[in-house]
Amino acid sequence: MNIAILGGGVAGVSSAIALKQKGFDVTVYERNQSESNIGAGIVVWPNASFVLEQLDVLEEIKKVSGYPSAMQRMSNTGEDLGSISIEEINKNMGYPSLSILRRDFQAILVSKLKSLGIKIKYGYEITKIEEKKKTVNIYFQNGEKATANIIIGADGRMSSVARKFVTGNNKPIYQGFINWVGVFESKEKVFDEIVVKDYWGIGERFGIVPVSQNKAYWAGGVVAKKSGTRKPALYKKELNTLFSKWTELISEVIANTPQNKINKIYVHDHNPTELWHKKNLIIIGDSAHAPLPTSGQGACQALEDAWHLANCLSENSIDLDSAFSKFTRLRVDKTTGIINAGRGLASSLFNSDQEFCKVRNENSKKVDYLQVAKGMAEGWSSGLPINT
Ligand SMILES: Cc1cc2nc3c(=O)[nH]c(=O)nc-3n(C[C@H](O)[C@H](O)[C@H](O)COP(=O)(O)OP(=O)(O)OC[C@H]3O[C@@H](n4cnc5c(N)ncnc54)[C@H](O)[C@@H]3O)c2cc1C
Repeated sequence: MNIAILGGGVAGVSSAIALKQKGFDVTVYERNQSESNIGAGIVVWPNASFVLEQLDVLEEIKKVSGYPSAMQRMSNTGEDLGSISIEEINKNMGYPSLSILRRDFQAILVSKLKSLGIKIKYGYEITKIEEKKKTVNIYFQNGEKATANIIIGADGRMSSVARKFVTGNNKPIYQGFINWVGVFESKEKVFDEIVVKDYWGIGERFGIVPVSQNKAYWAGGVVAKKSGTRKPALYKKELNTLFSKWTELISEVIANTPQNKINKIYVHDHNPTELWHKKNLIIIGDSAHAPLPTSGQGACQALEDAWHLANCLSENSIDLDSAFSKFTRLRVDKTTGIINAGRGLASSLFNSDQEFCKVRNENSKKVDYLQVAKGMAEGWSSGLPINT
């Protein structure tokens, strides 16, 4: 059984590893010329740590990660709005939460992939998927063509050719806010503790996630009605206009992030769909279920897909329709819940109504955050054989 995977991001590379471990012959096709990644860093929540352990890379990941203990919410004036104990989430799920830079995360996954002898073909941009009687043909920009017993569409959220083939529509939905994301590194110790800082303004938000005492990734966000321009030379000016009056730490982090380590993203997601497969092709990761970054779970869910899909295909790779249907049944509810949770938090954070934000902040102070941590642990554990 040979498998072609379209896209070498988190979903593509992790599913390649999981499928190779089950004995499949796998090739990954990626449009970029080398490893690349969107976003600056991720929190690997315990559900993802479980999968990374199965992929035999958790120990490597731990070596370059931070162990965040809490997520502290504050107003833009520094008022304490409550704190979610990440340690409580970890305790309930039996695995660690880890903060890691994207470049380190992707490099470890790709290195594992190569060590298993899996081929990753860079410079292969899929332009067309052609339907045959029971299978599909894949066409690339470079003039080549591929086919395989099983095709996995893992070509992301913004212009997935595989999603278009399966559902007829691959247009992501702009959700009305911008994120600037960046990586900050300092020679000196800046963070006394590895605690996620989440500052809430009025239609604005700034989050800092330390990875070590002198390294962090961050995201600054603001409401913007329309998707617009991206001029890297202006990013710092745009950020300073929005956040220079917030805490000193934010100004320091922006000032000490090189311009080429900042990206500006007009944030999109996809409406949930239950249609994930057609012929011998199935979509996974953002191509199937892209949530907003406010869900905190996009990459983690891509990893869960890898584990579940490898299990479903190793149980049954003869009747693909049944195996794909089983995978979809196992994954749709959880990923739909995560898309909706991401939208719920985004609509509260990226709200420009002053009175709404005042009430939101007051309510946040009254929340029982122990219960919140327990609820997050329960939701994120679902479908996985881990403790709750
Ligand atoms: C601003 C922002 C911040 C985020 N922060 C977090 C976070 O903190 N934690 C978290 O868990 N998730 C986060 N996410 C979500 C996370 O980035 C995605 O959910 C995750 O990367 C999905 O993995 P994927 O492999 O499906 O897609 P991607 O990682 O996007 O990979 C898709 C791959 O397919 C390739 N590709 C696309 N089209 C083609 C084509 N036509 N031919 C060949 N190759 C193609 C791309 O080059 C890419 O390598 C964030 C997302 C955004 C937008």
